[in-house]
Amino acid sequence: MVVCPVSVIAVYDAKTGNICKYINPAAEANSLLVISLVLRAAAKLTDLVLISDEQQLSIQRRYPYPPEIIASINHESSLLESIPIEVIHIPASLEKAVDSLTLNVASTGYYLDVIARELGVTDASNVLISRIIGKASSEMRIYSSAPKQLPFDDLSEPKDKQASHFEGSLNVRASYFTGQEVYGDAILASVGYTWKSTDLFREAVSLRSYYRMLVNKTPSGIYKISRDAILAAKLPSAFTTKSNWRGSFPRDILCTFCRVHHLSEPVFSTQSNLLDASLDLPGSRKKLKVTQSSEDGTIEAGIGTSTQDSVGPIGTFSCEVKIYSKNQELILQCSPQESHRKQTDAMQSTSLKVLSWLNIFFENPDISLEKLKLLAEKLDINFTPHSLFKEFSLCHSMHNFGSSRPHACIDNADVDEPSFIDIGGQNSGVTPSNGSLASISYSVSLFREGDCMKEHLESCEEFEFEIGNEAVLPHLETVVVQMAVGQSAYFRVELPPSEFILAAAGDSLATLSLLSSRSCKLEYSITLLQVTEPLEDRMEQALFSPPLSKQRVEFAVQHIKESSAASLVDFGCGSGSLLDSLLSYPTSLEKIVGVDISQRSLAKAAKSLHSKLNALVDSKEPSSKIKSAVLYDGSITKFDSRLHGFDIATCLEVIEHMEEEDACLFGGIVLSSFCPRILIVSTPNYEYNVILQRNTPHGQEDDPDEKNQSQSCKFRNHDHKFEWTRAQFEDWATDLATRHNYNVEFSGVGGAVDVEPGFASQIAIFRRRDDNVTNVELADPYVPIWEWSREDRLPPKEP
Ligand code: SAH
Ligand code: MG
Repeated sequence: MVVCPVSVIAVYDAKTGNICKYINPAAEANSLLVISLVLRAAAKLTDLVLISDEQQLSIQRRYPYPPEIIASINHESSLLESIPIEVIHIPASLEKAVDSLTLNVASTGYYLDVIARELGVTDASNVLISRIIGKASSEMRIYSSAPKQLPFDDLSEPKDKQASHFEGSLNVRASYFTGQEVYGDAILASVGYTWKSTDLFREAVSLRSYYRMLVNKTPSGIYKISRDAILAAKLPSAFTTKSNWRGSFPRDILCTFCRVHHLSEPVFSTQSNLLDASLDLPGSRKKLKVTQSSEDGTIEAGIGTSTQDSVGPIGTFSCEVKIYSKNQELILQCSPQESHRKQTDAMQSTSLKVLSWLNIFFENPDISLEKLKLLAEKLDINFTPHSLFKEFSLCHSMHNFGSSRPHACIDNADVDEPSFIDIGGQNSGVTPSNGSLASISYSVSLFREGDCMKEHLESCEEFEFEIGNEAVLPHLETVVVQMAVGQSAYFRVELPPSEFILAAAGDSLATLSLLSSRSCKLEYSITLLQVTEPLEDRMEQALFSPPLSKQRVEFAVQHIKESSAASLVDFGCGSGSLLDSLLSYPTSLEKIVGVDISQRSLAKAAKSLHSKLNALVDSKEPSSKIKSAVLYDGSITKFDSRLHGFDIATCLEVIEHMEEEDACLFGGIVLSSFCPRILIVSTPNYEYNVILQRNTPHGQEDDPDEKNQSQSCKFRNHDHKFEWTRAQFEDWATDLATRHNYNVEFSGVGGAVDVEPGFASQIAIFRRRDDNVTNVELADPYVPIWEWSREDRLPPKEP
């Protein structure tokens, strides 16, 4: 070729590009600047090249190539067919829709000339080529027309002045993808000649791939794409364990995020503290006040020597991450205090915090700076508003989240309930609970209400996710937790932002035509295939028969019987396993109450208690004297006078799910205000974990590097905030009892008291010393969410 567009040199000749960046760093993001520099240099090489004197950005060789070179290129142009290339047209005006387009390149023609014509300019020398978008290995670029006049003379003039050389206006969408300023209409295409090849490389770019690229710009979108489940998956709210995580890991998502936004690679710094577990609460996740000396890792601690047995060293890691712009301006920094047993967990967890926060920023265009700051504080994030808004200035005009959904992710309020169609099939009784892995098959369609037109969008034969971690669309989880293995369900929800729908849709045209009619919903059809129980349950089942949970219930029932209690309150009743089992035993109970903060668990409890109680009444068996049952939504760290002075109170495997301060708060309130005659509290014995973990067949749930960590120190359940040793539990309980005039004795289930390391579940039984309970102040913060009474159920007596 004798004439060469300068934009081709600027983009494809890496050496020239680098020299230009060296001369002027602004050339990195401004291809026009590169072109100017190249033209300027070329103007000095008058003996080799010519610069056309028209407004053409091209360079011409003064002397043609020798004939042997031309012959070697060997154009076999006998076929006069044209090559069709599917590209995307991105109008400068945001009002106009992005659409797909087919370019036809004659086999003898030059593809850049065809693109030029489509952009309304004469030929290839007037086309600007962007850098690569997306994967470095792709050839995806944005093409736009060059300005009529180049800013030759004064390269240092301010940007907005340079912009005025352009006829068109800023193309927001194209600029958002390239991170470079693009003016006027643009074309997104994957085409070009690869190194030393004379065949034109080209790849169809569909509307779907355009929307996938758009979705891939947000943290949650990157996760969705990595799971190939755009309409089902959601960036999980917490990093629990590596084995429960599905899709790209937070750290990789963060790196992808930085790359697609043309930021520097995130900078991680991890800190490790090797701790001696015996020095402080071994089960506690809190950072201990221990410093590690730099030379040999010996430990200095300001705490007196311990009398307790050591549980073994815990390696704890914390991780900080910093995000910089390409010019090394600090955008944000996240420095959480929590420590993790493994370095990678610390990195993943910190990355996820950053991603969650960024996602809120992306999905809520109207969020105020104050709210953003408040949320950042909660996540241990510090950010520079100026740099943040500068780097992401275009994102809110690109993603139209705000228009269709209210601030769902901030206030965490479940948006509109799904309109239910049906849960069908046999109830196998196997239901998912928090922390378990659910495996489903699903299919999502666009559904038009008027004429029941349907367009299939996305489906998956086997899709696995962790329950209770917001890893999927909220409605999907709401429905799945009500299902049993083998059952299927249908439901419809309001439409998500259309970028998601179009990123999932196979047939964009059919989808667009349905979407334009405005009365559409998404219809999900799901089947629950399998449930893998949380590790804690699997560990307990592997070792104990009957299962530990059953043994706890039996322990409580035994005490209820012995005490002839008439009223019982179960603090942290969960999905009602204790209340439910109680009904299978003859007891003297007349009133039973459950309290929990999980509405989802309470809903489950209500469902099973309701049918069980009704069945009891109908069977007319005298086994149960229960007259009333109530479930309250409330935190057990608050007092409610309706539950004052009960005969017996239980709190099984709950305190370890609260922060230690709250566990202490609860202890005080329950004995000083609720004043039950008897209180039974159970919690895991941390010292027993070694045995539980040794006896659990290590399936896929553990990484190989964990296997040789013999003194495994992890908790039984990722939701546990702490696990106490016997000594810690006894200290807590004894101190409480003394302060509130109770006696306390210790027992447990699983294992034995006199065999090390004691019971698997440790239990404290508190008994009130005096019988006259004082009056208490009225308070009713709990919200009753379900009530049952025998009278309502009994048929009216016949006259
Ligand atoms: N007692 C049940 C559930 C144990 S799981 C059983 O033995 O099966 C722990 C439960 O404690 C969860 O249901 C959780 O929602 C609840 N919980 C945690 N913190 C709470 C709080 N502050 N107030 C009430 N319930 C709480
Ligand atoms: Mg627990």
